[in-house]
Amino acid sequence: MKHPRRVLAGVAALVLAGTAGVVAAGWSDDSGSPPGGTAVAAEAARTGLSDEQKVARKREVDVVLARRATAVLKGDLAGFLAAVDPKQPALVARQRLLFVNLRKFGFSTLKYFAADDWNAPNLVDKYGPTTYTARVMMRYQIAGLDPKPVQTDLGYTFVRRAGGWTLVEDGAIDEVLSRDGHRQPWDYEEVALVRRGRVVVVVDKKEAELGKRIARVSSGAVAAVRRHWQHPWNGAVLVVAMPDTRVMATIWTAGSGQGWTIAAKAVTLFENEQMGKPRGAPVGSRIVVNPAMRKGLEEDLLVHEMTHVASVPIGVRTPTWLVEGLAEYVRTRSIEDDPQWTVDPYRRVVRTKYLRTMKTLPSPSLFDVDADRAYGLSWWVVEYLADAKGAKSLVPLYTDLARHNTTPAAYTTIIKKHTGKTPAQLTAAVKKFKG
Ligand SMILES: [Zn+2]
Repeated sequence: MKHPRRVLAGVAALVLAGTAGVVAAGWSDDSGSPPGGTAVAAEAARTGLSDEQKVARKREVDVVLARRATAVLKGDLAGFLAAVDPKQPALVARQRLLFVNLRKFGFSTLKYFAADDWNAPNLVDKYGPTTYTARVMMRYQIAGLDPKPVQTDLGYTFVRRAGGWTLVEDGAIDEVLSRDGHRQPWDYEEVALVRRGRVVVVVDKKEAELGKRIARVSSGAVAAVRRHWQHPWNGAVLVVAMPDTRVMATIWTAGSGQGWTIAAKAVTLFENEQMGKPRGAPVGSRIVVNPAMRKGLEEDLLVHEMTHVASVPIGVRTPTWLVEGLAEYVRTRSIEDDPQWTVDPYRRVVRTKYLRTMKTLPSPSLFDVDADRAYGLSWWVVEYLADAKGAKSLVPLYTDLARHNTTPAAYTTIIKKHTGKTPAQLTAAVKKFKG
């Protein structure tokens, strides 16, 4: 009963691991057809370019983009700016800052290429008939962080000048990009990267001291996850804690009614992720900190989010109650690693308020309508499983569900195989569990 407010506030500030899933659903809603389909047709009619000419144009622009990627990898500022319109000082300054920021991340691989032609008549009016606007993919790996390439998109406009392609706009179609397109931490102010072990924290350059504090708290959180979640994890994670709310374009409230404020999110990155197209397997995650809460970030919240980061690569089919229950289990265990702290008030709320009326394992919709109850009960299910079968048994259960939970029948079979109980029997056992 030592810090009830803090412990419960922590609960209220949590969020579903499926953040990226929510984002992806938004994208497919936005883009029933592949981006640019009709735009390209309209453009062909207007410019009179043949398919062959368009392919050649894309190939030429891809060469320019490839040179810029090489320039980043080699630290060649002049090479990076070579194709930028020198008549636009603001654009040159932005691109120079982008280069400075990109260099700090230490990419092991980096590629840019035009993904879709984009019809933007206003830009043609502004820059003339050779204007070419494209949605450009940036495919990259941050050394020590990304086991495989991940990608994001940006919108670039080029014009043909003196036999080559000149970049004249770097943000004209930002509104049609994916949610994190051109909203990466390197896209705004100058950043500082604070490294501590395998943890990398990105902050505004003016807030390097804050970066050190968050790196220290993050390292503590990584250690806690490794103590209580037996699945191997190298602890490599990027924590984004920028003051600018546009970075990663995250929404910081959740729930129904007035909702609650989210302190931090684990955002999953998928292989070949692209707006409106099927995505591949999860590659890893970033943790994005709510700009408004970046200065008072508590370690236990990061423990919760980092449990997601450590688990996401296993697979995406784990039911929400186990994903969130596990994160709460690791978080509460990490709090009680310190004998000065207790989560007894949280236990009491679950026992007296939620458990008696529990009818099933928490459904995904319960997380929307009553998050406190959903998180609390999910935690209790995992506490029960750890007590009945041992903390190590959580790993094969999580893994089997993450990979093979494809149908309701498969779900029941897997639950039964690992717990000896049907979901209904498991619910009954959890209701009786006193902790
Ligand atoms: Zn969560």
